Amino acid sequence: MLNAVTKYLWVLPSLLVSALITGVIFVTSPMVDDVHFANAMLEGLLVLMPLIGTFVVINARQRIPHIYGLAMISFAFLLLSMSMDTLDELVEVEYVYTLWFEGVAQILGFVFLLLTFYKATKHTTREARNLGRLAITDELTEIFNRRYLLTHLNQEIRNVGGCAQEFAVVLIDLDHFKKINDTYGHDVGDQVLRSYAALLTAGIRKSDIAARYGGEEFVVLARHTGQRGAATLCEHLQARTREQWPEGLPPLTASMGVAIYDGRESAEAVLSRADKALYRAKHEGRDRVVFADRAAGDVIRRVDATAS
Ligand code: GH3
Ligand code: MG
Ligand code: MG
Repeated sequence: MLNAVTKYLWVLPSLLVSALITGVIFVTSPMVDDVHFANAMLEGLLVLMPLIGTFVVINARQRIPHIYGLAMISFAFLLLSMSMDTLDELVEVEYVYTLWFEGVAQILGFVFLLLTFYKATKHTTREARNLGRLAITDELTEIFNRRYLLTHLNQEIRNVGGCAQEFAVVLIDLDHFKKINDTYGHDVGDQVLRSYAALLTAGIRKSDIAARYGGEEFVVLARHTGQRGAATLCEHLQARTREQWPEGLPPLTASMGVAIYDGRESAEAVLSRADKALYRAKHEGRDRVVFADRAAGDVIRRVDATAS
């Protein structure tokens, strides 16, 4: 706050100087009779205050100069219309002309003011939308992030209202990813993450959500999906990775742990079951899909990823 005040301290001497200059112009002008110096100074203040105010605002809002440029044009026209009286006193202009100019300047001033509001509103809306998108997007892969996934997982739990087998959570971890980074470099590693994310989003249904859960881990939330549907989905995703992996990128496999919602558990619990299944998939040799099976006391069943 203090910073902002000291930043704009220059406004005070500027106003004083502008008032003094206007006062001197008025008093020395041969066309102005009988004007009091103080009145002339006041006139100068009134004319220049909004102008300086506009400059202050522009200075504060350098990020959107075009909008504040519009605001300044609007102020300039409004000031012009306000200062017609002054012009009258300084130069001999026929009254009808000053009246005409005043009207035109006023209309233009208001048109630019409306344009300013319109542009500013549009800018704010766009900014809010961008921020909203950023908040739910993973920067590297441009798919949804962990926050979005967790929000929708909790929402889905509320939606299914205690019914089991209504959705599946697939936790995916890329195999030996560290080796890809070590062998080909971090940039190639990033490219692999982006390509896998693209493959994933293209391989799921519209109603499903694919998100980057962390480093080289992804989650798919598959709605209206039980054991059989989830197996089909995972096999489909594994097949896509085998068959549609971009040429030129290092070969890649992924392990998957799947948990089908049991109707009672929390988001953390269903994710934790998927994580345990994923751990088993890694342990059993990677490049495979393992199901956490609540009904059998979380005995893990393996689905062969290469089976079709
Ligand atoms: P595993 O098959 O057991 O999953 O082995 P892994 O090498 O995939 O697993 P590990 O957890 O040992 O290594 C994961 C690596 O992912 C380590 C980390 O540097 C890398 N990583 C995490 N985030 C990024 C990223 O944004 N870009 C890149 N290039 N690498 C990342
Ligand atoms: Mg990992
Ligand atoms: Mg890994």
